[in-house]
Amino acid sequence: MRIIEDIHEMRREAEDMAARRAECGLVPTMGALHEGHLSLIERSKAENDITAISVFVNPTQFMPGEDYDSYPRTWEKDLEAAERLGMDIVFHPSAEQMYPPRAQTSVQVHGLTRGLCGMSRGQGYFRGVTTVVAKLFNLVRPTRAYFGQKDAQQALVIQRMVIDLNFPVEIVVCPIVREEDGLALSSRNRNIPPEYRDRALALREALLLGRDLIRDKEYDAFRLATAMQERILQDDEIELDCLDIVSPETLEEVEKVDDLVLMAGAIKIGGVRLIDNILVGPDGPWSD
Ligand code: AMP
Repeated sequence: MRIIEDIHEMRREAEDMAARRAECGLVPTMGALHEGHLSLIERSKAENDITAISVFVNPTQFMPGEDYDSYPRTWEKDLEAAERLGMDIVFHPSAEQMYPPRAQTSVQVHGLTRGLCGMSRGQGYFRGVTTVVAKLFNLVRPTRAYFGQKDAQQALVIQRMVIDLNFPVEIVVCPIVREEDGLALSSRNRNIPPEYRDRALALREALLLGRDLIRDKEYDAFRLATAMQERILQDDEIELDCLDIVSPETLEEVEKVDDLVLMAGAIKIGGVRLIDNILVGPDGPWSD
């Protein structure tokens, strides 16, 4: 396993892979690896000659007042996990190298970043994500890149960027991996104070309530959203960031559930922001 910390070395490695015509799968992460990340890695290993994982807590996707400093960093453990999984390349650049002095360039996807979490976190968050992912694609030059459906809006935004900027990369979106009780795995789960852990399920339960209501033929998006929001706000320690019912392609809000919809939300509990979502339509799926 090669650990690459220097961007020039990464570029040389990418050139070498291209010369050998080796197909490379890239799994971009911010580290603090968990089973969700591992599922992306497994998928990449099955589909590519070489799998590279990037571990980079990207400063430009944290807005002022967000948890950049307290974001979990578990580098030694991440390395052990990467080794155990038989990773070929771990790319771990420094912020100084990724963002050269006086950098003035960013990549922004417009429409798709406005709705859902773009509203609560600001479009700056997605600008940070697309800018760093574009840089990673330029440095690693992957054939395929793997993203999780947990960050549904992010996956869609990246797909848009790849089409719009002609990146020769195939985007693969993988299903959400959950704890046994249904909580979506997230690096941030480590920061949930133990006394709040059970209540962190509120968002998942609200989304399942929405799904059950659709199964019972409630198709009015406003009534569905209200019922889900009420479920979350039963707990006055939970802050509701966003909870929307949107088209899975355009992320525009729908009025009626007459096709597959994405129900996605974000809450803050015990100072930690958590997200989750579910895809469902009038014909299900009724389990996930
Ligand atoms: P992060 O390190 O949180 O930026 O996540 C890196 C990648 O892993 C992103 O594409 C995420 O969508 C994906 N990911 C994070 N959590 C999960 C999960 N529970 N299931 C599937 N993919 C996930």
